[in-house]
Parts: sequence; C-alpha cells; structure tokens
Amino acid sequence: KKRLAVMTSGGDSPGMCAAVRAVVRAGLFFDCEVFGCYEGYSGLVQGGDLLKPMAWEDVRGWLSLGGTLIGTARCLEFKERAGRLLAARNMILRGIDALIVCGGDGSLTGADLFRAEWPSLLEELIKTGKLTEEQANPYKTLTIVGMVGSIDNDMAMTDNTIGAYSSLERICEMVDYIDTTAASHSRAFVVEVMGRHCGWLAIMAGVCCGADYVFVPEQPPSASGWKDELKKVCLRHRKRGRRKTTVIVAEGAIDDSLQPITSEQVKDTLVELGLDTRVTTLGHVQRGGSAVAFDRLLATMQGVEAVKAVLESTPNTPSPMIGIQENQIVRIPLVEAVSQTKAVAKCIEKKDFAGAFNLRDAAFQE
Ligand code: ADP
Repeated sequence: KKRLAVMTSGGDSPGMCAAVRAVVRAGLFFDCEVFGCYEGYSGLVQGGDLLKPMAWEDVRGWLSLGGTLIGTARCLEFKERAGRLLAARNMILRGIDALIVCGGDGSLTGADLFRAEWPSLLEELIKTGKLTEEQANPYKTLTIVGMVGSIDNDMAMTDNTIGAYSSLERICEMVDYIDTTAASHSRAFVVEVMGRHCGWLAIMAGVCCGADYVFVPEQPPSASGWKDELKKVCLRHRKRGRRKTTVIVAEGAIDDSLQPITSEQVKDTLVELGLDTRVTTLGHVQRGGSAVAFDRLLATMQGVEAVKAVLESTPNTPSPMIGIQENQIVRIPLVEAVSQTKAVAKCIEKKDFAGAFNLRDAAFQE
C-alpha cells in the first residue's frame, strides 16, 4: 500500500483543515495509508506521535473549520541538513515516501529541496548506520505535491490560494462595521490589512467595500506626490456628498522610492484635510474564522487532485503544485510557481513596478 503524509506549514489559513480532510479521505478512497504530520516540518523531524496514521473519522467535521487542526509551525531544524536527515529516517521507518504539503512558498521550496536531496540523505543514513540498505531500498525516491494555503493570494501561476477568499470576507465584514460608524460621525478610517508583498487582499477589499483609496506594494505611488493625490481624491468624493472616507493600506505598501507608506502617515495626511481620522489595523482577525464556501471547494478539489498527482507521479515528473486557473484545477511545476512568486519581490526591489504588476494574475490587473 502506498503511504503518504499530509502536513500544513507556514502561516495558517482557513481551508487548511478542509485540505487535510480531502487528502485523508481521497487517500483512503484510493487505497493508500495516510499519515498526518503534525506541527509542520517538526512532525517529520521529531516523528513519534507527531507523524501518525489518520482514519476517515479523524477528519470528520473539518470541512468548514478555520486554521489547521494538525498544527503548523516554523521549523528551523528542517532548514538544516541534520534536521532533514532525521525527517527522512522517520518517514522511511514508517514506509512513507510521498508528502503533500499545504503551505506558502517557503514550505513548498523546502519540500522540493527535500526531494532533490532525498537520495543523498538515504546514502548518508545507511553509511552512518541509521538505516540498513534493506530498510532504505524500497524508498529510493520521494514524491512531493504542493498545495497553497495562504490568506494573501500571493502565489504565482494559480488564480487563488486556499484561505484568501475567507480572509477577504472577514476584511469586508470588518470594513462594513467600520463604515456605519464612519458615516454616522462623518469620519475617515484608515484600515490596514495583511499582505507584505502582495496587495491582493487590499485591492479586492477596496473594490468590494468601495474604498476611496488603496495602497499596495505592486503599484507604488510617487514619493513626492502621493499625499496630494490622496487628498485630492478623498476631497472630490466628499464634495460629491460622501459622509465617510475609507482608505485601505496593505501592510507592505511602499512609495516609488521603496519607502514604506504607513497607516499613520496616511492618517496624518487625511487629518490635514480636516477629517476626524482613525486607524484600524485588522490584524489576526483576518486569519480567523471558518472557511467560506469557495475555500472549502478549492481545498477539497485540490486535495483530491493532490492524491491523484501522488499516485501518478514518476521519478521524472517535476514536483507539482496544485492550483486553479480559470476555474480548472491544474498541476503546475512547483519550482516555476515559486520562482515566479519570488520574481515579483525582485522586480519591486529593482523598482521595476510594471514588471511586478505584470506578474500578477488577470483579476488583480483588472
Ligand atoms: P510559508 O510556507 O508560509 O512561506 P515559511 O517561509 O516560514 O512560511 O516556511 C515554513 C517552514 O518551511 C519553515 O519554518 C521551514 O521549516 C520550512 N522551510 C522554508 N524554507 C525552507 C528552505 N529553504 N529549506 C528547507 N525548509 C524550508
């Protein structure tokens, strides 16, 4: 029987539980044994009770839950070869040679690296007497399949990541709450949302909530002109009778000289207009709560596809990342998706803002 492990790693996002549920149940349906790897890569490194079989009923009720019930962690040991040696040994002792990782670009990079290194890890384990050849020989290759769990929607080559729409929903609810009090008092609110390198949440929230202005990292305004431009736009809206002002700032917002644009700076600018202005940093409520229908669907379809990808993989198939493009669940070369994701940050560093913008998906650009 094929044995595979599923883990969640990196930042949590609503829908990760649904993804684990889908992998466990699809795995069992296709006659595999499925192991839950708890606490991200720590589960592989430490083994023991953190890497154990999961049954159909273990994931009952997980479809709608937020966060991840198998835990997630930043695991520094796994970044070192010594940690990956322990991880490989723990897997082989359980007969696991396939790993489905639901995480962000860091987690997926680590997974692909682990796969590339696998034969040399086994060699070293045998040489140092930690495994016998008989133990290691049946597991000569490691299969890796990635799924993207991220509230930021910050992975290239897939239209959506698991959790992004739940987070967007949360932000919209919060901005709706803020809007009613803002309009009552005729106030201005600066709402800071998550997104260090990716402004998807900010842009989409801006559209969904009818914000006056949005600041995102991919389209930085002029360092010398943004304050005047912001004032001009907000004033124009007020003159048309708007009783509230809502400005959304992504946490990674910058100007075109790469200086951060902070919520406080935006607030001070609005105060210069004479507006009674407050800052609300939404923080971790954006990660919380149950998964919206779209994330449940995305996680479920991708989890099933991930198991199929494990079963169909050959030593020559590049590690796939399961994504969605134009409503089709697709397999994308994991390494390409990760490198394109990193290219956005590199474009921004080089002040190639048009380049960064072009690397974003169609919905973002529209
Ligand atoms: P995300 O997956 O959300 O991008 P991180 O970058 O923090 O989050 O990665 C999560 C975990 O994945 C890390 O704590 C580490 O265990 C593992 N990881 C990340 N990058 C690497 C890497 N280059 N090599 C090995 N493991 C890595």
